Amino acid sequence: MRSACDVAVVGAGFGGLAAALRLAELGLRVVCLEALAYPGGCASTFTRKGARFESGATLFSGFGQGELFEQWVRRHNMDVRFERIDPPVELRAPDFLMPIDADRERFVTRMSDACGEAGPRVTAFFAEQARVAEALWALFRDPTLLPPLDLGSLLRHAARAPAYLPLLRLVGRPLCDVLLRHRIESVAPLRTFLDAVCQITVQCSADEAEAPFAMGAMDYYFRGTGHVHGGIGRLAEAMAGAVRDLGGEVILPCKVHAIAADAGGYVLDTRHGELRARAVVSNLLPEATAGLLGTSAGGDEVLAPLQRKVEGGWGAAMLYRVLEAGAVPARKHAHHVELVASPNEAFVEGNHVFCSLSGEDEARVPAKAGARTLTVSTHVPMRKLLAMNDAEQGAYVARVQQRMRDTISRLAPELDAGVALEMTGSPRTFARFTGRPQGYVGGIPRRAGLGNYRVLTPTRLRPAFYLCGDTCFPGQSTLAVALSGVKVAERLADELGHHASGAFVSAR
Ligand SMILES: Cc1cc2nc3c(=O)[nH]c(=O)nc-3n(C[C@H](O)[C@H](O)[C@H](O)COP(=O)(O)OP(=O)(O)OC[C@H]3O[C@@H](n4cnc5c(N)ncnc54)[C@H](O)[C@@H]3O)c2cc1C
Repeated sequence: MRSACDVAVVGAGFGGLAAALRLAELGLRVVCLEALAYPGGCASTFTRKGARFESGATLFSGFGQGELFEQWVRRHNMDVRFERIDPPVELRAPDFLMPIDADRERFVTRMSDACGEAGPRVTAFFAEQARVAEALWALFRDPTLLPPLDLGSLLRHAARAPAYLPLLRLVGRPLCDVLLRHRIESVAPLRTFLDAVCQITVQCSADEAEAPFAMGAMDYYFRGTGHVHGGIGRLAEAMAGAVRDLGGEVILPCKVHAIAADAGGYVLDTRHGELRARAVVSNLLPEATAGLLGTSAGGDEVLAPLQRKVEGGWGAAMLYRVLEAGAVPARKHAHHVELVASPNEAFVEGNHVFCSLSGEDEARVPAKAGARTLTVSTHVPMRKLLAMNDAEQGAYVARVQQRMRDTISRLAPELDAGVALEMTGSPRTFARFTGRPQGYVGGIPRRAGLGNYRVLTPTRLRPAFYLCGDTCFPGQSTLAVALSGVKVAERLADELGHHASGAFVSAR
C-alpha cells in the first residue's frame, strides 16, 4: 500500500467502490480499504463450504442502456454478464401466485384482472405511478440531475418541470393516501404486492411509505432488473479491477482502525500501516464512522440525525442453502420467489421472505455439477431485537429462521427438496462480516414525511470528509448506493480543486 494518496475510501461496498472508481476516473489518486477479503459488502458473493452464495442483495437494476452499471461495464471492458429475468419475481401468498412481469403493461393487465371489479381503479393507480416513476428514474439514468446541481443541470431540470408536476401533491404523503384516493386501499392481491414491494425497496409498509419514493421504487421490476451471472461479487471484483487499472488501489483485507485529522488532511491507521490522505470517503454506517473518529454518532451534529433514522430500521435473518443437482428442474435459470405466509400480518420476521436461486449453469458448487445455491432473507425489527438480552435474542432469531423455513415449505416446497446444506445468518452475522454496528442493514426506511428531502446533497462530515452508502441520498439498493458514491466523488474532486473531465453520464 502506498503511504499517501488524494482520497482514502473506507469500505468496498457498492457505495465505496463507486466512489473509488469515479475518483480514479477523474484522475485522483485513490486508495480503497476493505476489511473483508472480498469486495461488495451487503451485495457480495462469499464462498463457504465449497459453495458461492449471495450474501444479501440478489436482484439488480442499473444495467439498462446508458445506466450507471451498463456504462461502467462497457467503458472498462468488465467481464460481467448481466441476465435480464422475466418475470424478475414471482409473488406467492396462500391464495394466489402472481408473476411480476418485466413488462409493465403485461403486469398491470394481470394485476387489474386479478382485482375484479376494482380493476379499472387499479389501472388508473398504475397510470399515476408510471408518471411519478418516469420523473424519478430520470435521476437514476442521469446522475448529473441529482444534487448538488450546476447551472447545466438546473437548466435541464427547468426543461423537465412538467414531468415533476405529478409529484407535487404526493411529497410528504404516505402511499396509503394515494390508495385511498383511488379507492383501492384494501384490494387484496394489489395490497399484498404493494406491501411486499415497499418492504424490500423503501423498507416499510405501504401504509407508512413516502409516496413518491414508493411509487418510484415500484418501477424497479420494469426497468431491466435482473441477475449477475456467477454472483454480484463478479461486478464488485470488476469494479475493484477497474480502479486498479486506472492507477488506484483497492486493498483487501485491510480494516481501518482509526482516522485522525492532521495538517494535510487525514491519517488512517489501518491493518497494513498508516495512510495519509487529503480527503476521506466513509462507506460505513454513522456509528461505525464515528467510531473511527474516536467519537459517538449521537454527539455529532451531522451523524446524530442519520443515526436516529438508522435506528428505526432493520436487520436481516438469512438462510443460505445448497440444493442438489436436479432441484427445481422446471426452472434451470436464476430466479426469485417472494413469499407471504399471511398478508394480514407485518411483512417481516419470516412471514415475508425473499428467495433467490442461482442458475444451474453457474457452477456455484464446483464439486457438485448442477448444484445450486439459494439465499433467503427476511426483515428483523431492530428495536424489538435490541430490547432483548443475549439469550432472548438468540432464541428470537432462531424462531424467525424457523418461520422462514415454514413459509418456504408451505409456499415454495420445490426449494425445500434436495437441501444438501443449510447455513443461517442474523444481524450478528452482518455486524461481524460487514462491520455494520448491531447488524443494521437495508438503509434508512423511507417513511412518509418532508424529512426525506432535507438532505439531498452529499453528506459532508468534516472538511474533505464525506459519507456514502445506504444512509445517504438517494438511499437503499445497490444502484442507489453506487450513485451516492458517484456524487460524493464529484463533489470531493471539486472541493480538492481537481477540475477534471466533465459529468458522468452520456444519456441525456
Ligand atoms: C438481505 C439483504 C437483501 C438485499 N437485497 C437487495 C437487492 O436484491 N437488490 C439491491 O439492489 N439491494 C439489496 N439490498 C440492499 C443493498 O445490498 C445495500 O443497500 C447496499 O449493498 C449497501 O451498500 P453500502 O456500500 O452502503 O454498504 P455495505 O455493503 O455495508 O459496504 C460497507 C463495506 O465496508 C466494509 N467495512 C466495514 N468496516 C470497515 C473498516 N473499519 N475498514 C474497512 N472496511 C470496512 C464492509 O466490510 C463492507 O464491505 C439488500 C440488503 C440486504 C441486507
